[in-house]
Amino acid sequence: MNYRHAFHAGNFADVLKHLVLVRVLAHLAAKPKPFRAIDTHAGLGVYDLEAEEAGRTGEWHDGFGRLDAPFAPEVEALLAPYRAAVAAVRARHGATTYPGSPAIIRESLRAGDKGVFVELHPADAQTLAHRYASDTRTKVMHLDGWTALNALIPPPERRGLVLIDPPYEERGEIDRLGASLLKAARKWPTGIYLGWYPIKDVSGVDRMAAALDAGLERPALRLDLMIERPDDPARLTGTGLVVINPPWTLAAEAELFLPALAERLARNGYGAFRCEPLGREE
Ligand code: SAM
Repeated sequence: MNYRHAFHAGNFADVLKHLVLVRVLAHLAAKPKPFRAIDTHAGLGVYDLEAEEAGRTGEWHDGFGRLDAPFAPEVEALLAPYRAAVAAVRARHGATTYPGSPAIIRESLRAGDKGVFVELHPADAQTLAHRYASDTRTKVMHLDGWTALNALIPPPERRGLVLIDPPYEERGEIDRLGASLLKAARKWPTGIYLGWYPIKDVSGVDRMAAALDAGLERPALRLDLMIERPDDPARLTGTGLVVINPPWTLAAEAELFLPALAERLARNGYGAFRCEPLGREE
């Protein structure tokens, strides 16, 4: 387990992932019925952009660091809850903080909602458990996220989301994501699933998306954001998320925020996006 998210917090991939996460959380919180958010690869929850790790890569400068200027009003309206979540975490933990997914989820929880954060790295799981020890709405589990997913669904609330955000250190993790999503969507068909992936060699993403398209009994969306010309399969040139059972507004929202992010986060003048339906129409 060499991957350390502290080097990458706030980068362009986090921006897309956390923006979509916040859109889905807002959708769940729009109804009074309680929900549960399960984060299978949770990380540390809070990162300091002035710490040595973030400083060594400087990745956040080309991610969250590029969002200072406002977007067009219709895009800004979609980003507002994400900006509010970052601001709320900064108010708690300091002005140079960037939130990880557990911190973002926690800001959305109401009294009856639950956040379950699974992390395999022993020290990170301990840090996370310590940070949220006094918050009875949250639970931290030191487990393998892939195994925990199967055990944690369907949750008692029967309403909620699962974020799967693995480090992609091992070969075949993109196919594992597709297979796990298919299996999970069979076990808990009405859950909202967000599966994150990096884009280096797009053929792996295409293969995973085709497997989901063929096998899913539920509707899904593939949201890709490219910030560099994809001409070197060894380089991270984009990122994406598969969202199963997306809120009905998400496709139209993505058609607004994806081009805006592609333009703002583009490197060497290249930015592109894709927003495609997968699986079965509702
Ligand atoms: N979801 C976090 C966020 O958005 O802030 C970032 C997660 S980071 C990309 C991936 C995390 O997965 C790392 O913290 C790593 O220690 C953890 N990890 C690696 N293998 C794991 C496994 N099998 N089960 C659970 N966590 C794992």
